[in-house]
Amino acid sequence: MPGRLLSLVRPAPASSPPLDQLKGHKKHSDTPLFPPVYSVERPSQKNKSQESLVMEAFKRHGLGGRQNSFKKSPKTSPKAEPQPAAVLNMLVESPPLVFFNSPQTSTGAIISGLLNIEVHEPNVTLEHMEMRLLAIVTTKKPVHQHCSDCTSQTTEIHKWEFLRGAVQLHFGQHSFPFSHLVPGHLPATTHGQITALDYYLDAVATLSNGKKLEYKRALDIKRSIVPGPDKHSIRIFPPTNLTASVKLPPVVHPIGDFGVEMRLSGVTQTKDDSQSRWRLRKLNWRIEETQKSISPACPKHANKVGGEGKGILHDDTRTIASEEVKTGWKTDFTEGNIDCEFRARCNIAHNPLCDMDSQSGMSVRHNLVIEMVVAEEWAPLKKLNQATPTGAARVLRTQFHLVLTERSGMGISWDEEQPPLYEDVPASPPTYIGDYDGPPLHDEHDELHLGP
Ligand SMILES: [Zn+2]
Repeated sequence: MPGRLLSLVRPAPASSPPLDQLKGHKKHSDTPLFPPVYSVERPSQKNKSQESLVMEAFKRHGLGGRQNSFKKSPKTSPKAEPQPAAVLNMLVESPPLVFFNSPQTSTGAIISGLLNIEVHEPNVTLEHMEMRLLAIVTTKKPVHQHCSDCTSQTTEIHKWEFLRGAVQLHFGQHSFPFSHLVPGHLPATTHGQITALDYYLDAVATLSNGKKLEYKRALDIKRSIVPGPDKHSIRIFPPTNLTASVKLPPVVHPIGDFGVEMRLSGVTQTKDDSQSRWRLRKLNWRIEETQKSISPACPKHANKVGGEGKGILHDDTRTIASEEVKTGWKTDFTEGNIDCEFRARCNIAHNPLCDMDSQSGMSVRHNLVIEMVVAEEWAPLKKLNQATPTGAARVLRTQFHLVLTERSGMGISWDEEQPPLYEDVPASPPTYIGDYDGPPLHDEHDELHLGP
């Protein structure tokens, strides 16, 4: 789908969690913001993988060495290299990184572990050792095809400096502990069709002889929106009297099915001596995934998009599941209701993404689209079971926002391991409608299409 030009509007940063209120964690007032500073490597020829784009980003910026922990590069020379004086390695001790709840309310996730240096010689002198937590955004559709700065942007989220001055290390293993509360407003790792967001730990140790030891590790950051109450929505279909009330789960997951309950009411209209009513003929559902991203132009190529601070918006909607519900609804013309229940699920073969929203302009959203065909029939009140189709039919189409998120599984937010204090109980009862606090939903408009 061709992108369209737009001004690159950068929304205000999402409010960070109140880190300063969290005991035992110092305040991170310098939390870096998205979007990242531009940098990096040459764009894809078509079949270039996102991973190779990221690798090029590392190479271009000297962020990594020839030997990368997540991708073995083929040796350029058959000669065996001498054993290095020391090698870096890592032991991550914290559980998988999961941000619980929305970017506005998530308290983040803690990463902790040991950066290990294995010394192979009697002594080495370490001049400097640092590690950075990086976010790298790469696009397969850069503003300029062969411009590294248009293709990838790197942001430093955090930096650890392990040494204040040179130290001598003896033969054997030496461990440097590290930890960080990764802010929960950051978007989760996402590999979209066009744009990918990845996180890496990138460690570099510099020896006194100038040699550098390097280590890189990809971090898969997930988000899990903890389910609240079921969502109830009502849709009307003027000019008919039909109303659909739908009950949906508050969140759904990439794997596994979920139940949808729908009642269509107002199907029967009784006049003096006759009744006209809508019979449900067909019911389809589908899940649509909309991915948006902005390819920013580097300063050199800003003229291609009409000036600095602009980019190209890529906006793509795809269907990640669909099905026709053949049976299973109950029609009650006396009450004027049709009740349906069906199970829906994402098709894993389409690699569904979780919802996300990044200040770099990347977002992923989902809608459940329900389409019904109803046909009108007429019957005299005296012979209600002798109905005749009138020939009128309508297609009723409506959609509902679905929140697609990772399962929370057995994970417990690091700050919720203790039961809530009494002061935490809200003063008013929770609301069940309109409690969605994200960006406005655009699924409130019913569409009515006349059938054949
Ligand atoms: Zn460029």
